[in-house]
Amino acid sequence: MDHYQPNRSCYCMRCRSRGLMGPAVLITLGVLFLLSEFGVAHFERTWPILLIVIGLVKVLAGNLDTTGHVDYIAPAPPPGTPPAPPQNPETRQVDHV
Ligand SMILES: [Zn+2]
Repeated sequence: MDHYQPNRSCYCMRCRSRGLMGPAVLITLGVLFLLSEFGVAHFERTWPILLIVIGLVKVLAGNLDTTGHVDYIAPAPPPGTPPAPPQNPETRQVDHV
């Protein structure tokens, strides 16, 4: 696979891992605030753990298996929509005033 593009309707391991970041950040923040409330470790000293968790989740997600991955296919435009004109700057006409 040359270029991986996430697809919400795919159920391969890497596409499913997209939902891990939010819960991981919330759980980490909760634990850090809890430790701060109990006086175990103040948040001003432990907040870098949040960055470490984000990095770990990204490294983990980036290395998961993509077996069975289904590439995203853009939905077809509704019927009756004219096709977009080609954008070629070399053939573009410029009106001189
Ligand atoms: Zn996938």
